[in-house]
Amino acid sequence: MIQSLQGIGMTSRRTRERMINRLKDQGITSNKILDVMRNTPRHIFMDEALASRAYEDTALPIGYNQTISQPYIVARMTELLLETSGRLTKVLEIGTGCGYQSAVLAQLADHVYSVERILPLQRKAKGHLWNLKLKNVSFLHSDGGWGWPDYAPFDGILVAAAPTEIPEMLLQQMAIGGVMIIPVGHGGSQELQRVIRTVSGYEIESLEPVVFVPFLSGKE
Ligand code: SAH
Repeated sequence: MIQSLQGIGMTSRRTRERMINRLKDQGITSNKILDVMRNTPRHIFMDEALASRAYEDTALPIGYNQTISQPYIVARMTELLLETSGRLTKVLEIGTGCGYQSAVLAQLADHVYSVERILPLQRKAKGHLWNLKLKNVSFLHSDGGWGWPDYAPFDGILVAAAPTEIPEMLLQQMAIGGVMIIPVGHGGSQELQRVIRTVSGYEIESLEPVVFVPFLSGKE
């Protein structure tokens, strides 16, 4: 195993197991997801200075004013995707960031299509997934508000930044029976929403208050 995957104390089974136990206490029940998160080395997705805090239940900076999502949020959004759609074949992720959520999804879906607007973050994410030998993730440097039309429709869409309204193009790129998990709202008050596309339209449900970085337009 390569050095960065071995790490030091913070990669110990005990540290990771504590994170898993916390997720269970917070209501995450899917063993499939808990197993994937137990076996995915979260510390390799961050800068060395913060790696020792990788398994804490908090969002941490990854540069460019962005954060890696808190473990609970990654688990919860993934669980909502899986429980609604049963089996995930094609998943669209908006907001690759450091690639941690992509790595979790890659182990639960046939293929992940991940869009990020900040090029250096996308490059880092590619490197991390390459190190983990996860090859079923495709990356696009673009404004995620456009989705990724070439590969639509998707049976799952996961959005990791909060727009004030659900982007129309993302709704259009959902398969019938597909599900989208998306935070919606302004800085102080956002809520996690679940959208299900039916034959006749869209069912939108509000789930819980959340805090995400804003969904920004354009790319850099
Ligand atoms: N799941 C990521 C979360 C990163 S934070 C992780 O665990 O690391 C959210 C990410 O969404 C940031 O990288 C930000 O640049 C990106 N983002 C924000 N608005 C976007 C948009 N319109 N299109 C694509 N990515 C966007």
